[in-house]
Amino acid sequence: MREGPAGYGLSCLHTHTVFCDGSDEIETYCRGAWERGFHSLGFSAHGPVSGKTGFSSDWHLPEDRLEEYLDAVREARRRWEGKLRIYLGLELDFIPGLMGPADREYRDLGLDYLIGSVHYLIPPRSGPFTVDGSREELDRGLREGFGGDGEALVQCYWDQVAAMIRAGGFEILGHADLVKKNNRGPGGPFFDPAGSAYLRRAGEIAALAGEAASRRGMVVEVNTGGMNRGTLDETYPSPALLTMFRENRVGALVSADAHRERDLEGHYGEALALMRSAGYHSTVLFEGKEGGRPRWSERPLSEIRPQALSAGP
Ligand SMILES: [Zn+2]
Ligand SMILES: [Zn+2]
Repeated sequence: MREGPAGYGLSCLHTHTVFCDGSDEIETYCRGAWERGFHSLGFSAHGPVSGKTGFSSDWHLPEDRLEEYLDAVREARRRWEGKLRIYLGLELDFIPGLMGPADREYRDLGLDYLIGSVHYLIPPRSGPFTVDGSREELDRGLREGFGGDGEALVQCYWDQVAAMIRAGGFEILGHADLVKKNNRGPGGPFFDPAGSAYLRRAGEIAALAGEAASRRGMVVEVNTGGMNRGTLDETYPSPALLTMFRENRVGALVSADAHRERDLEGHYGEALALMRSAGYHSTVLFEGKEGGRPRWSERPLSEIRPQALSAGP
């Protein structure tokens, strides 16, 4: 394997291709990761939802293309053997009562890893909606589902993240505080991310994540997707939440949530600097699974691309 020196210790396990809502082909990403000297590259198409939920979606892998996707990534792994470690994954939605990464059938697909993500909220008073869609969709969901109560919306989000972590079945906790996507601005239009109610729930999530980390090797991603798309100026999770994950001994790795090849490594310098300021001394790299548990190797942050680290926030 030709790892680094430029890409020493870098990887992206959160990658969307033309099979779901990404704009580049598998091969384009492989070449990009190899040229950057990445340790590894993982593909994580949005797993199909329509069959289990009845939702229509234009951003998930269509149900009837799942096998084709799995085969295409396996073929890429064969083509790049000896040059780049390629892993086969899915990003799976946790939707209470309908589907989640712990569902049995995903274990039979021969996947290397799963990212567990909450995108959909199931409010008490209305139908499901996504927290990371348009501002208009969130406004409507907030009004119809929660009577305009932003704090209730956030509590619903954290409840679902907590339920997903408890249910397990995945290796990487995806964009832990995605609920903030449409909440930009001082104090936030929907909820206050510096408020005690928010931070208390975030602390509960971090503690649950700590249990999942020690019990089954779950890690959290430091996701630069919002920065890559220009919708946010910070990672998921926020600095405060990342510090809580570190206090609970949850391993962390940077990912681009790439929807195009040029996102690979996007804003990694800031994310690595953020990990350092949250008290992390090392990042983890995926090395496959053993006995059903993910194997993570550690790389000291001090050894990863000093030029990237110096480009801090
Ligand atoms: Zn996602
Ligand atoms: Zn994603």
